[in-house]
Amino acid sequence: MLRAALLLIPATLPAATLHIGVFDLFRPTTLLLRAAAIAIADERLATPSELTITAAADTVICRIGSRALRGRRLSVTGPRVQLTVPGKLTRAYNGNLEITASAGVLIATVQMDIEEAVAAVVAAEMPHAPQAALEAQAIAARSYYTASKGRHSGFDFCDTTHCQALQQTTPVARRAAHSSTGQVIHYQNNPVGAMYFRSCSGRTLGAIDVKLSAEGYPYFAVDCEACRRRPHTWETRVPESSAEALVVKGPSEALRLELARIIGWNRLPSNTYTTERTPGTIIFRGKGHGHGIGMCQNGAIAMARQGLTTAQILSHYYPHTAIRR
Ligand SMILES: [Zn+2]
Ligand SMILES: [Zn+2]
Repeated sequence: MLRAALLLIPATLPAATLHIGVFDLFRPTTLLLRAAAIAIADERLATPSELTITAAADTVICRIGSRALRGRRLSVTGPRVQLTVPGKLTRAYNGNLEITASAGVLIATVQMDIEEAVAAVVAAEMPHAPQAALEAQAIAARSYYTASKGRHSGFDFCDTTHCQALQQTTPVARRAAHSSTGQVIHYQNNPVGAMYFRSCSGRTLGAIDVKLSAEGYPYFAVDCEACRRRPHTWETRVPESSAEALVVKGPSEALRLELARIIGWNRLPSNTYTTERTPGTIIFRGKGHGHGIGMCQNGAIAMARQGLTTAQILSHYYPHTAIRR
């Protein structure tokens, strides 16, 4: 009896939910919301039309007709919620939404099933690819969500590449999440916060190569056939003063991101490059796109096209790991 009862427990547990901070990048002061009903300040109201949400200090203000409802938090019970940053973008979510305010800025958090979030990452990161590569991306995304909490306060993860980028899910992305449900990459019995990136130079990098703490998994440099045959190459000229540290200290993901903030995103697309000094200018000549650690998406897609399986792709880019449910 006891054994039977224990076996039943996993099926009755709710699936893991994540709190994803959305639109945090925009620091919105106004949001437009479409939902069937909202709850704010002990009131629950049906909301047939789009609502305008604003903030005053730490108070959320929601206008419905001539009324202005105020509260510390506005909540919406899903399943379907649509949120707009005026003039920027609109996105629909499957999940519960909560909006709070801090110093006049609205903080929107969607409580989402982990599998829904995984599908949203696949939609953002690999919209078109053979099934084996899509599943590898889904498993990498799920592994990251399983292993890498704690980079934010107030919510678990943001919706940008700082954590993982999210897009509205598609049938293809949902299928990739569904067919790999619950599968997570493990190293020495712990889930791996699996990193991935767009394309490499023909060889990926270990965490140590870019002076990155790898939180339990060291990552290993591996060959990437597709990128070696046809690498994406780039050249960037940067004022000597802003790039000096990169030349002196060598490639580092932290320095690359620091420089990106100074000279603009994507000016230094990868951590695999050579440098040449000319008077007042440093010329970077590099290959690949992204930090270079973990799974190369370009290579994963090429492997899938050659008929390799999801497991073969993942064990190539994350050596010495195992996939577990
Ligand atoms: Zn983040
Ligand atoms: Zn590659």
